Amino acid sequence: MPEGSAPESFELDHNAVVAPYVRIAADKALRNGGHLTKYDVRFSQPNKEHLPMPVVHSIEHALATTLRTHSDDVIDISPMGCQTGFYVAVDGPTDVDAFFELLATGLADVLELTETPAATEKQCGFAASHDLEGAKAAIKKFLAGRDEWSRVFSH
Ligand SMILES: [Zn+2]
Repeated sequence: MPEGSAPESFELDHNAVVAPYVRIAADKALRNGGHLTKYDVRFSQPNKEHLPMPVVHSIEHALATTLRTHSDDVIDISPMGCQTGFYVAVDGPTDVDAFFELLATGLADVLELTETPAATEKQCGFAASHDLEGAKAAIKKFLAGRDEWSRVFSH
């Protein structure tokens, strides 16, 4: 493996972070022009707690929908396999304040949903595995910590 090819997140000390937080995981000039910013949106304290998979899944579906109603710059929302958060990839230069606002707005929209978007067997690979109410509870807790989003490390 070429030196430096490990994903950025493998270099992060997961013992040193304090959830909830939002961190810039990648700030990348693209080869063909343009810019991509990838945010680490951490809901749960690593190795102490995690979200149940149906909750992760419903947040993924719901946020993929609500964020895009407010911004054309959202490229991707991916759940972390460790079930502690999500990656959000955004087209454009890094603007943390704008992203916080977008994220807070998109998450608040999820609280108003009455069903998980695209949770049918036609639209989803595991349509039975959703928990919108659990997603809302996790989002409320995450939003309540908004003042601490920019504080990533405990020291
Ligand atoms: Zn799905």
